[in-house]
Amino acid sequence: MTSLAHEDVIAAVSTPWGEGGIGIIRLSGRGSAQVVDKVFRGRSPLCSTPPWTMRHGHLVSEDGILDEVLAVRFEAPRSYTGEDSAEVHCHGGILVVQRCLNALINAGARLAEPGEFTRRAVQNGRMDLTSASGVLGMIRGYSDEALKAASRSLTGTTRREMEELLQYLISITALPEALLDHPEEELPDLELERLRTGLMDAAGRLRDLAYRGEAGMALSCGIRAALVGRPNVGKSSLLNRLVREAKAIVTPIPGTTRDLVEAAVIHKGVPLKLVDTAGIRDSQDPVEMLGIQRAKEAMVTSQIRILVLDGSTPPSQEDLKLLTSLEKPALAALNKSDKGILQEWLDLLDRPQEIPYFEISALNGDGVEELKDRMVETFFSRGSLEGAVSLFRHQVDSLKRSAQCLEEAAGASFLDAMVHLASRARQHLGAAMGRDTTEELLDSIFSNFCIGK
Ligand code: GDP
Ligand code: ZN
Repeated sequence: MTSLAHEDVIAAVSTPWGEGGIGIIRLSGRGSAQVVDKVFRGRSPLCSTPPWTMRHGHLVSEDGILDEVLAVRFEAPRSYTGEDSAEVHCHGGILVVQRCLNALINAGARLAEPGEFTRRAVQNGRMDLTSASGVLGMIRGYSDEALKAASRSLTGTTRREMEELLQYLISITALPEALLDHPEEELPDLELERLRTGLMDAAGRLRDLAYRGEAGMALSCGIRAALVGRPNVGKSSLLNRLVREAKAIVTPIPGTTRDLVEAAVIHKGVPLKLVDTAGIRDSQDPVEMLGIQRAKEAMVTSQIRILVLDGSTPPSQEDLKLLTSLEKPALAALNKSDKGILQEWLDLLDRPQEIPYFEISALNGDGVEELKDRMVETFFSRGSLEGAVSLFRHQVDSLKRSAQCLEEAAGASFLDAMVHLASRARQHLGAAMGRDTTEELLDSIFSNFCIGK
């Protein structure tokens, strides 16, 4: 490929695949209309049609007419991406849309990568990072809560919040910064205390926004939860109970859940991505060993672990080993409460240093709602779900770094250290706001977005 990434014309179907009245294929990049004109036959070519005006015509291939279409071109910078771009509206059947897209690809467009239109919009300054995150959140929103979070970022509320924080930081550090240039002057003690309080206050607000960003990510991407525990404790039964449909194999023979079985269920607006893992125990069987290996991987990559325990039989060595080695956050599901939970278990788990536990019955569903509530609550700091916003991981990380710098600044003994750390905090906040984003950074931001759009 010789052309630069933004010079090439990208194309993608912008409407969902399926049967619909119309299907829209979007193209972006200089020469979009020329690409369309290679396969478009109308009263005049799209290139000589005024921009933002629909032109009726036909899309053709060597075999003849593909479809009757409407085509439109947009002139930079007044387009979604800020580049010259075009749209072809064809009929919305799966096959016809596919054929029209193929014709445009053959005419010189390249298939767009996930999120590439939005990425270009950001790169060309048409949209800021926060709104872009809002767009993706809107597209991927599974629940009312997720759409609310996306809307806050899309409409600029989140960006304004960051701008206000930045202004606040600038205002509280203006005087100390000025004083640094005049070493003969000193900051009165009262002012110094006020500065420390202000820095801590800003740090708190930044952390709060970061948590709400994490909540937004969870709303949009879901929380990965692994069901772990030794064989026969009821992991598969619990998964089935959680999704209320038989997606996992339930069987009384130990070690038979040899593969991970996944299911997603939305609880309080949050998609919970549940992974049932093979029972973890010492085994020589190669197939079972593979399952155990993958279960261990799932334990590490999941965001929360549900340790399933059989409360109707005494704790075994394996249970205790899992209980102590489990990565946090984790919850214990003390299963088979319908058979009666042994006092031994309660004595063991009813201690402040242990992970929270729930008496449940996968068989009749007792306690399962409470477990689901807690799975969601564990993950969200107080209030973060209600005020969730769409942000990219990079933005959340930058907000946290900024807060960290401010906390250090507030604790610093010397004024120059405080000022220096506060200015670093401002840079991190700037990064969260999408200042100085390089192409590499945009690549990683958009490629790391779950599933991608
Ligand atoms: P896994 O190996 O951990 O996935 O365990 P399974 O879900 O396959 O369950 C093992 C056995 O325990 C099956 O016979 C289930 O019917 C039974 N079982 C699971 N949960 C419960 C429960 O809450 N109460 C009772 N009484 N039996 C259960
Ligand atoms: Zn199982």
